[in-house]
Amino acid sequence: MAADSERLERWDREHVWHAFTQMAEYEPLIVERAEGCTLIDIDGREYLDGVSSLWCNLHGHRHPRLDAALVDQMQRVAHVTSLGMSNPTTIRLARRLVEITPAGLEHVFFSSDGSSAVEVALKMAFQYWHQRDDPREKKTKYVAFGNAYHGDTLGSVSVGGVSRFHEMFGPLLFDVLRVATPDSYRLPAGSSPETACADYLRNLEAVLQEHAEHVAALVIEPLMQCAAGMVRHPAGFLAGVRALTRKYEVLLIADEVAMGFGRTGTMFACDQEAVAPDLICLGKGISGGYLPLAATLATTDIWNAFLGSYAESKTLFHGHTYGGNPLAAAVGLASLEVFEEDSVLDGLVPKIAQLRRALGRIAEHPHVGDVRQCGLIAGIELVQDRASKRPFPWEQQRGKQVCDFALTKGVWIRPLGSVVVIMPPLAISPEELDRVCQAVEAGIAHACP
Ligand SMILES: *Cc1c(COP(=O)(O)O)cnc(C)c1O
Repeated sequence: MAADSERLERWDREHVWHAFTQMAEYEPLIVERAEGCTLIDIDGREYLDGVSSLWCNLHGHRHPRLDAALVDQMQRVAHVTSLGMSNPTTIRLARRLVEITPAGLEHVFFSSDGSSAVEVALKMAFQYWHQRDDPREKKTKYVAFGNAYHGDTLGSVSVGGVSRFHEMFGPLLFDVLRVATPDSYRLPAGSSPETACADYLRNLEAVLQEHAEHVAALVIEPLMQCAAGMVRHPAGFLAGVRALTRKYEVLLIADEVAMGFGRTGTMFACDQEAVAPDLICLGKGISGGYLPLAATLATTDIWNAFLGSYAESKTLFHGHTYGGNPLAAAVGLASLEVFEEDSVLDGLVPKIAQLRRALGRIAEHPHVGDVRQCGLIAGIELVQDRASKRPFPWEQQRGKQVCDFALTKGVWIRPLGSVVVIMPPLAISPEELDRVCQAVEAGIAHACP
């Protein structure tokens, strides 16, 4: 057994090129199985899954109803292409997504990952302005926010703004109109918490006023920019963005890849400010965290611009081989059934309150600059100096030190620089959530003595 583990670890180091991982420093952690919110490695050690297997898992691992839905679908057909044909399970999921997403989003384009869902939305927006009845062919640009993260393909990187990830690829990217991150912790000079929302919106309006004629769409991660370090937007900002994009005739793309499916306490982040975007991008939790699945939903106005005879070439010439895969759709559909049958959203209320209490405690540590919560998502920002909000030098990897310590307490989490992230499965029990928060607290005490 030990020899087998050693060999797997060696092969893992030698052959598997891990995502967002410096392979020269990689330490293998090989999960062989999982049960509920617990991951079990090849040596039988158990870890609580404190970040939902990277923000995906909702109802726990090996959920009986999700497992059964997969087996059931497997006995019919595992894959059907979406290029010119269909299958009942994918159709049913499309219908359910239309029912639960904000009003007006009635047409579903399936893909396999969040980056693709964003690429599709960008292309739909671009093509829409060229093909609608009253074409506006100058509308070819996008507005995006500082520190935005929308995925790792080149279109989604173009609208992204995390310099450490994206700068290197600059020559390959298209130009984007970048507006300041609506950050509630680090406000711009002259702003106060009371005026921040209006100040950020004024800044955005100035950009739209000048450039709207050339802007196809604005892309935003609603309420909180997750990969940016759980940066919380001021309340009301999203609704304000919706009003401005309507006023200046710019499509609104909501990237809910991370925020969607209950994470924020409502099914979608947009629901909290009663916003209906023109396009919504879904991924991560859409399959309950089981299989690669993503979707882009569009309004009928957008859809109509793509209709015509084949010869008119108005088709969306875009597709991903496994988009709408029936196995992924089956588990996605089962996940939505669990939401309903188990009243998952109602069950979140006490857990969100429990997380808030724990964060209140954690916020008292002298090196915790800010705690940011949105539903069952939390970011804890570690700073060198609280008064000036001076960050720790990033190469000190304080966040990673917290996570390494938490791992010794049987809790697996993954940081964003100096921001410690807690994003457990929605199904986490109160006792498990306590263990995650205690490990984080102990980790912070250890990493920032
Ligand atoms: C993860 C993420 C993506 C990219 O999704 P992938 O499935 O990793 O391609 C896009 N947008 C947001 C907001 C994300 O969190």
